[in-house]
Amino acid sequence: MKACRSCGAELVHTFADLGMTPLSNAFLRADELGRKEPVYPLHAYVCGNCFLVQLEQFESPQQIFGEHYAYFSSYSDTWLDHARRYTGKMIERFGFGSNSQVIEIASNDGYLLQYFKQKGVPVLGIEPAKNVAEAAVAKGIPTLTRFFGVKTARELVAQGTRADLLLGNNVLAHVPDLNDFVAGMKLVLKPDGVITMEFPHLQHLIEENQFDTIYHEHFSYFSFLSAQRVFERHGLQVFDVEEIPTHGGSLRIYARHAERGGEPGGRVRELVARERRLKFEDLETYRAFASRVKETRRRLLEFLISAKRAGKKVVGYGAPAKGNTLLNYCGIGSDFLEFTVDRSPHKQGTFLPGTHIPVYAPERIDKVKPDYLLILPWNIKDEIVKQMAHIRSWGGKFVVPIPEVRVLD
Ligand SMILES: [Zn+2]
Repeated sequence: MKACRSCGAELVHTFADLGMTPLSNAFLRADELGRKEPVYPLHAYVCGNCFLVQLEQFESPQQIFGEHYAYFSSYSDTWLDHARRYTGKMIERFGFGSNSQVIEIASNDGYLLQYFKQKGVPVLGIEPAKNVAEAAVAKGIPTLTRFFGVKTARELVAQGTRADLLLGNNVLAHVPDLNDFVAGMKLVLKPDGVITMEFPHLQHLIEENQFDTIYHEHFSYFSFLSAQRVFERHGLQVFDVEEIPTHGGSLRIYARHAERGGEPGGRVRELVARERRLKFEDLETYRAFASRVKETRRRLLEFLISAKRAGKKVVGYGAPAKGNTLLNYCGIGSDFLEFTVDRSPHKQGTFLPGTHIPVYAPERIDKVKPDYLLILPWNIKDEIVKQMAHIRSWGGKFVVPIPEVRVLD
């Protein structure tokens, strides 16, 4: 039996079945291309009891987020800007200073904590990927190379470290043992401490057809209602929520110990009411999604086939995890997309998992002068259109695949 990772109920209802694909961050080196790649079902279910959308876990987190995890946050300007603004906002709202402790779970290369450090606020990062944690330490951000959960929380408490601000951006979705993770947060939070967590909002995934954000490393897909249930189960009250534009539309939730009492704010009540109105507690809402996903694939393939027939050159921009879901599900290989480019030197010179499309440095675009540039990380398309505006000088056009294929003017 497949059990819901939040409430334990049996999982029987399909949300999206995207076939068998390799892990989306399993980039290949040239000498690995001839080997058989492990593939796993990419099949999202929705729990009929707590309505958490989720994937089964097929690989250990160690395997997925181990030493060679390729994501370095600092390579995106949009992210750095987001982190800088978040830091200012938290300091202003809650008055964190030199006597406070900020702890970030999944702190990556320290891209966010560096801004707290600049303001004189003590920081600690917790990051399981060794190469990424080392990059943070090299920048002067104290970082524990560890997965977070009750065990790590107890170690921190035993050494006298607890958080005034405990934050995790885009980590909740990646947690295999959700209840252990949230129970750990409860332990490591000071009595008056504040938790903030950011995660993509299921409302956008559904309404904007963002099925490519479903990938194996991303175990859970939260509505506000399903997230709130997890926190409440562990004695944490979600007292505020903001809707933010990152990753195509995310929520930033604020939680505190339920024992502190007090009512949640108006934005919490409004969002609960909206999600009930949108029928997020009705299975039919989730079933309707599957057919839209199939139609999106047909339209993208139609575009690519007609572009190729017309003799056009199509290349990709970016090598994000979501791009790999999209390309593998749609069966798009280098016959359609000659190559893609990425600013991260860690991805350059590799090949995309499954499709084996080569990844180069962005300069390659200027040599090849493609007719169409397919933007795979559509969530930062504005940044990319600005960076690559010069493709228009040879008549190049930008294309986004989601919510459906569209040539940008
Ligand atoms: Zn459930």
